[in-house]
Amino acid sequence: MKVLIVGSGGREHAIAWKVAQSERVDKIYCAPGNAGIEEYAECVNIGAMEFDKLTEFAVAEGIDLTVVGMDDPLVGGIVNAFEEKGLRVFGPRQLAAMIEGSKAFSKDLMKKYHIPTAAYENFDDPQKALEYLETAKMPIVLKADGLALGKGVLICNTLEEAKDGVKTIMEDKQFGSAGNRMVIEEFMTGREVSVLCFCDGTHVVPMTSAQDHKRAEDGDQGLNTGGMGTFSPSPFYTPEIAAFCEENIYKPTMAAMKAEGRDFVGILFVGLMLTEDGPKVLEYNARFGDPEAQVVLPRMKTDIIDVFEACIDGRLDEIQLEFEDNAAVCVVLASAGYPVKYDKGFVIDGLDTFKEHDGYYCFHAGTKRTEAGIVTNGGRVLGVTAKGSDLKEARANAYKATEWVRFDNKYMRHDIGKAIDEA
Ligand code: ATP
Repeated sequence: MKVLIVGSGGREHAIAWKVAQSERVDKIYCAPGNAGIEEYAECVNIGAMEFDKLTEFAVAEGIDLTVVGMDDPLVGGIVNAFEEKGLRVFGPRQLAAMIEGSKAFSKDLMKKYHIPTAAYENFDDPQKALEYLETAKMPIVLKADGLALGKGVLICNTLEEAKDGVKTIMEDKQFGSAGNRMVIEEFMTGREVSVLCFCDGTHVVPMTSAQDHKRAEDGDQGLNTGGMGTFSPSPFYTPEIAAFCEENIYKPTMAAMKAEGRDFVGILFVGLMLTEDGPKVLEYNARFGDPEAQVVLPRMKTDIIDVFEACIDGRLDEIQLEFEDNAAVCVVLASAGYPVKYDKGFVIDGLDTFKEHDGYYCFHAGTKRTEAGIVTNGGRVLGVTAKGSDLKEARANAYKATEWVRFDNKYMRHDIGKAIDEA
């Protein structure tokens, strides 16, 4: 079978690696891909938002299955565009991707269907938002409604900061049209866990858990990023918590989307906070997390093509999803200065070392092939992942492997997985 993967980051590299494990797959393409994905896939120079060119390519090449990794094309309706051409595609249709595309929509959905989440109000008038803040308890959380590259959430400790935040989001439009509406949400405390679920519109099957590290600097300091590292599984996501989430969050979310005529097929990413009052939803995403995919997929035993097809065909209940009884840690190697300003184009050495070691992976996020070799081409450059028999071993292995790779301005956090020591 021929598979097309849409996207170009570390997540898509992990998906391409996992798809390549399937005996059912003869050929993989990736649009647009990156220098690491080239090992498994033929990269095609078409952008993820160029739906006409992508569908033309899929028809011309006889692609049997397309897998969409990124949020923008999903929210923009790429699945509808493929289906209109009679092509098989894995991911939510536009109506269902709204669960990620609008935070106001997802909050209203949770309220209507009694799914545990932080108390909130939605606003499309900045004046009303400012009035509301006058009586609100601090700290408080402001969220731009639409997609904002993971940066549209502001945690405000004082009324002044919150008022500035309203201006940033709704008046200065720092996140563009994503800030036409805004959610103001109660601040919660607790440990965060990400759970990615396969969904077929009716059934929902959660994968093993993971935890991200969003801040740029050690000790969870600095700016929010796309994610600086992950570990899987989360030791805080106990079987009791998992059972609670399945009954009170995952299944009700699937049923709610169906009841709204937005049957969700694809990956539902549930960002949870484990609060004193129980697990609550922080956010939904409509695709694999990046870098959660980089620790979850290497631990997955089941053939992913079988699972993708079961989702599309509405028979996910027939699948026995299995994960290895071990752990994985991913440390992101970034360019110094990320997420604000950084240089690109530095040659990367040491990538071949990974080929000599089982259970170690170097997923490319921002890289490019040039005559000089593979060079840095983004803020997040590589996701160095290692497995181990437990989390501590996986963490030691991952940090050891970060030393195999060299490039100028290499930057990473040194405390990925620190929470493991508190478990
Ligand atoms: P992404 O899609 O990249 O994961 P996002 O922009 O959708 O990010 P959220 O995941 O909703 O943003 O929030 C980003 C982070 O802000 C969360 O991981 C969490 O640390 C913090 N956060 C969000 N909502 C709350 C809340 N109600 N209370 C406390 N912290 C919160």
